[in-house]
Amino acid sequence: MKAFAYVNATSEREAVAALKFDGIALPLAGGQDLLARMKDYIDSPDRVVNVKNALDATVTATPDGGLKIGGAMKVVDLAEHAQVAKLYPAVAAAAIEIGTPQIRNQATVGGNINQRPRCWYYRNEEFVCYKKGGSRCFAVNGENQYHAIFGNDGPSHIVHPSSLAVPFLAYGAKFRVLGPNGEREIAAAEYFTMPTLQNVMKENVLADEELLTHVILPAPGNVKSGHYEVRYKASHDWPLVFATIVLALGGTSGNTIRSARVVLGAVAPVPWRSKAAEDALAGKPLNEQTAALAGEAAVKEAKPMSGNAYKIQITRTAVKRAIMNAAGIKTA
Ligand SMILES: Cc1cc2nc3c(=O)[nH]c(=O)nc-3n(C[C@H](O)[C@H](O)[C@H](O)COP(=O)(O)OP(=O)(O)OC[C@H]3O[C@@H](n4cnc5c(N)ncnc54)[C@H](O)[C@@H]3O)c2cc1C
Ligand code: SF4
Repeated sequence: MKAFAYVNATSEREAVAALKFDGIALPLAGGQDLLARMKDYIDSPDRVVNVKNALDATVTATPDGGLKIGGAMKVVDLAEHAQVAKLYPAVAAAAIEIGTPQIRNQATVGGNINQRPRCWYYRNEEFVCYKKGGSRCFAVNGENQYHAIFGNDGPSHIVHPSSLAVPFLAYGAKFRVLGPNGEREIAAAEYFTMPTLQNVMKENVLADEELLTHVILPAPGNVKSGHYEVRYKASHDWPLVFATIVLALGGTSGNTIRSARVVLGAVAPVPWRSKAAEDALAGKPLNEQTAALAGEAAVKEAKPMSGNAYKIQITRTAVKRAIMNAAGIKTA
């Protein structure tokens, strides 16, 4: 690892000031991603700014009945927070599946959302692909079994690595961001960016000197939500595909789906909202047949790469089971 200067910031403003630096400065939270990148020479910052003592690590209630989650909150604390589990069960369900107990005990919410891709070419120093300033994507003609099946126009074909981003987007979260010019709030749906030749070295709209300080979740209202992950290994790995579903119900029986949010994870360079699945759910009764139709609709526009068509069936199943999970119908 290259030698670097270390700043232990004690307030969010101090952290932001330390990131404004003539050289490469990167925030360090739980270090579960950044330290590995530094050890593997994927990133060699001149300055590392510890933000764990600078950012909020708590959950507070907002006046509208929602919750505000601090960026330095540990994933384990999020997973075990009673109000989070009550109001946003899919967030708690995603958090408890992340990595291992050791990883959840170090990793933070802000670090999880801003972690960099897991593409094996990106993670190998020898492969200088688009994401590292090169001029090609090695996954196109290479090993792409864990890559995208949606949004595959390139130039990069990563899947977004954050498990928390998906339920946050499904519940309509906003991210509070602080930079040298002050703060701003960005809808989670607008935070993550599809790759273009101009922005391919980033996965979101955060500027280099900005920090994600809070996740703000609106009051959930009268919704039912479900989350379902398909994993190759039960632990110590990322999901192959996962889905969060948030359903607003109504009608005389209270069981008609008025509107739905269907967000898929590990299938595209961003948390992927499936409009086709949402349209398939609107106006239908919440039952297994509807869940299966939505699963089918979700994969209609999939464009797999040479080695990942198997993800289509998994996506179909994840959507169906997340909906059944929301409905309280048992799945195998
Ligand atoms: C074996 C293994 C399995 C894993 N499985 C999963 C999984 O299933 N799901 C999943 O989501 N993740 C998984 N992870 C990844 C892990 O959860 C993330 O690396 C971790 O959440 C990152 O959080 P951190 O606080 O450690 O971030 P750090 O490593 O400290 O930072 C991550 C990145 O975010 C930046 N950053 C940190 N905080 C902020 C902030 N507040 N604002 C802006 N930028 C910031 C850093 O500069 C860095 O680039 C796994 C990791 C391992 C090793
Ligand atoms: S998918 Fe993205 S990160 Fe992976 S090799 Fe292609 S450009 Fe690089």
